[in-house]
Amino acid sequence: MNNECIFCKIIKGELPSYKVYEDNKILAFLDINPINKGHVLVLPKEHYEDTLKTPDELLSSMAVIVKKISKAVMSATGARACNIGINNGAESGQIIFHTHWHIIPRFADDGYELWQGKDSVYKDREAEKIKEKIITFSKNN
Ligand code: AMP
Ligand code: ZN
Repeated sequence: MNNECIFCKIIKGELPSYKVYEDNKILAFLDINPINKGHVLVLPKEHYEDTLKTPDELLSSMAVIVKKISKAVMSATGARACNIGINNGAESGQIIFHTHWHIIPRFADDGYELWQGKDSVYKDREAEKIKEKIITFSKNN
C-alpha cells in the first residue's frame, strides 16, 4: 500500500468507486473520466508502480480477469469491440502510478482515435540494429 496513491485509497475503501469485480488479488471499477460508457480499470490490490514492475504471476491473473471483464463490458454496453490498453511510464501518458489496465468499449464513429504511425522512422540499418538489441536484451533478462 502507498498512502499517497489514489488507487490504494480506493482499494482501502477510503475513496468511492463503482466496483465491477473483486477477488483477493484484483479489483476492477469504472474509470471516473471514461472515454466511453463502461470504460473499466483493472488493477492489482497490491501497489506496484507500473505493469513492468508487477510480478509475472499477478500479471497472468490480471490478463485472465481482463478477458472476463472485457466480455462483460461489451455485453453491458452493446459494444462489438474494445481496446485493452496499458500506459506504462509518464511519457506514455500514465498519470496514476499504480498498475492498471484499461478496458474501453468501442463503437463506430465514437470519435476516439488511436495513435498514428509515421513513415520513414528508420534510417539506414536502424531497424536491423534495434531488432538485434531487443532480441539480445530479452534473451538475457
Ligand atoms: P493512466 O494512468 O493514464 O493510464 O490513466 C489513469 C486513469 O485513472 C484515467 O483514465 C483516470 O480517468 C482514472 N482515474 C483517476 N482517478 C480515478 C478515480 N478516483 N476513480 C476512477 N478512475 C480514476
Ligand atoms: Zn497504489
